[in-house]
Amino acid sequence: MILDEIKGIKALLNKGSKIVVTTHLNPDGDALGSMLGMYWFLKRSGYDVTPISPNDYPEFLQWLPGNEAIVDFTKRKKSATKTIQEADVIFFLDYNDAKRGGDMNEVLAAAGAKKIMIDHHPYPQLKVDFAISHTEASSTAELVFEFIMAMDGAMHINKDLAECLYTGLLTDTGCFSYNSSRTRTFEIASQLLNYSIDKDGIYSRIYDNFSVQRMRLLGYCLNEKMQVFPEFHTAFISLSVEEQERYNFTTGDSEGFVNYPLSIKGICFTALFIERKDKVKISFRSRGAFPVNKFSEKDFNGGGHMNAAGGESNLSLNDTIQKFIDLLPHYSRELNQ
Ligand code: 5GP
Ligand code: MN
Repeated sequence: MILDEIKGIKALLNKGSKIVVTTHLNPDGDALGSMLGMYWFLKRSGYDVTPISPNDYPEFLQWLPGNEAIVDFTKRKKSATKTIQEADVIFFLDYNDAKRGGDMNEVLAAAGAKKIMIDHHPYPQLKVDFAISHTEASSTAELVFEFIMAMDGAMHINKDLAECLYTGLLTDTGCFSYNSSRTRTFEIASQLLNYSIDKDGIYSRIYDNFSVQRMRLLGYCLNEKMQVFPEFHTAFISLSVEEQERYNFTTGDSEGFVNYPLSIKGICFTALFIERKDKVKISFRSRGAFPVNKFSEKDFNGGGHMNAAGGESNLSLNDTIQKFIDLLPHYSRELNQ
């Protein structure tokens, strides 16, 4: 599939091309894994390449090979802007909506570079010159692997690159528990294992990496903050700014919390509301046929995948939660299927 799509892209890359690889705000394992996987591929192919992240990301992803090369746009705005302005080619990885670029978006939109998007989210909206957009892929990392293969780049894959891509596959499939029913996903995982990646170590670095505070925060969320609506097969958790401060909350501390209520028998829809200074950030998850991306798009200004989406609200935390609760009866039929 990708063979046709990359003909034009191949023509863009010349010796000495300056390339930027970037990804979405609050980057997750697939965002960073695909960005750094592409970084290694381009670097090892001889290009001048800079990975730029729109903002900070959690400590449990800072071990990724190539992490030290990442320029954080919020921390190094001036130099990151200059690099973007001078780039010949920009790769947008794991997002398809300009809104997800955060403050960096304006600079990216104004850049004269040729733009290439590689992504697996539905409804692409980003204005680019070339798009490799496949919703059936488990992760963008999977598509980066296909891209490298289509570019005849197998010889540039090494352990570092393979660990980045494996991280994308692992995290975007919930450790191969969803979005991973295609045989191709496992074929790629299997090929990545050929590069002597530390498979179990990668899992541990990502998932067995709680601070004591974060583990206690999870206990607090499940014990005191989880609300369950059995009639709608729904459960949610919320965290106010005050509660976050009480548990010394840092970026990424609530990562994955939204999934826990899905382990309750009969629950197929979950939400996590995190109060920020200027808005409420929301995560949605589902099991089965309830499309959380549509739900989020309609009422919470967001989107994502059918079973994993995000959104936001400018109402207060309590009003946001009330709005969510009031919406549930409207989805009673879908939630009871
Ligand atoms: P998370 O809940 O982990 O932040 O996000 C889950 C998925 O939803 C991500 O894969 C991301 O693509 C999508 N997502 C999260 N927040 C937003 C948002 O504000 N807008 C859109 N369009 N998608 C989002
Ligand atoms: Mn992804």
